[in-house]
Amino acid sequence: MDLSIVIPLYNEAESLPELYAWIEQVMLEKGFSFEVIFVDDGSTDGSWEVVRSLADAHPGVHGISFRRNYGKSAALYEGFAAAEGEIVVTMDADLQDSPEEIPEMVRMIREEGYDLVSGWKQKRKDNALTKNLPSKLYNWAARRATGIHLHDMNCGLKAYRKDVVKHIEVYGEMHRYIPYLAKNAGYGRIGEKPVHHQKRKYGVSKFGLDRFVNGLLDLMSLSFLSKWGKKPMHFFGTSGILMFLVGFVMTVWIIAVKLVHQSQGLRYRAVTDQPLFYLALVALVLGVMLFLAGFLGEMISRNAEGRNDYNVRERL
Ligand code: UDP
Ligand code: MG
Repeated sequence: MDLSIVIPLYNEAESLPELYAWIEQVMLEKGFSFEVIFVDDGSTDGSWEVVRSLADAHPGVHGISFRRNYGKSAALYEGFAAAEGEIVVTMDADLQDSPEEIPEMVRMIREEGYDLVSGWKQKRKDNALTKNLPSKLYNWAARRATGIHLHDMNCGLKAYRKDVVKHIEVYGEMHRYIPYLAKNAGYGRIGEKPVHHQKRKYGVSKFGLDRFVNGLLDLMSLSFLSKWGKKPMHFFGTSGILMFLVGFVMTVWIIAVKLVHQSQGLRYRAVTDQPLFYLALVALVLGVMLFLAGFLGEMISRNAEGRNDYNVRERL
């Protein structure tokens, strides 16, 4: 099979029949063999009934239905696990992404050797103030932190070589950073294609402004994990040593100054009367705490399930 199209959906009942018809039309036109995997993320508007009737009418339609709403990442995770096509495409269910972009993305993977091609909503049809502007800032930060030069990291429309989706684990709200997950799993050939974007026709957006705060926090966790996740002590130990050294030098200084003054009969203050004393105290305590965090981190990563998961390309 050429394509698996994975579609996470949460309360998108009205859009689904139109979306499927559109996909089918493009696929037949281009002669792709394909399956569509609808992942219903706990919808309460009858979306699952629509998926069920589509699956009854078309053998290439599959559905997965969650008992409750877990989020887009969870839906993608299940969709990726089920996908069987040579190339896996994800798109939103709300008709904002156009299936007509798929053939060109597939061509880029097949002929230009990309592992992953991400859409770029160059002319975005969402609210300028609450979505488009924050999104620009957010993408700038994501580019800086990940080193991946995408304009639109979080675009729902993406195409992957099957191997990629089988070797990454989307969890929490990490669907925003799949290209980064892919890069960390060893798939660094990441391309971009400007795509048409439509206004939402039915239903409402499922993400508010808090996405940007959460998105930035997730970005910080991810870049920390990818650098230090397997060797936390190198991070915490280094900062712990530095902190401890700073505290130590201050302490020695405070004591030395006092002793010298004392022995030469000069005026001197009680150490607790000096601001430096408290700074030294804080630095020493912080240093020890950083070390403790490092040891705890090592104990956790030593027991982590994936501590020896490597993405082996080939064995001879
Ligand atoms: N979605 C989902 N689970 C959720 C929230 C959203 O599966 O908890 C789906 C949603 O149905 C849509 C896609 O993720 O297919 C993108 O959501 P939305 O269109 O609301 O995001 P926006 O386009 O506003 O960024
Ligand atoms: Mg949308």
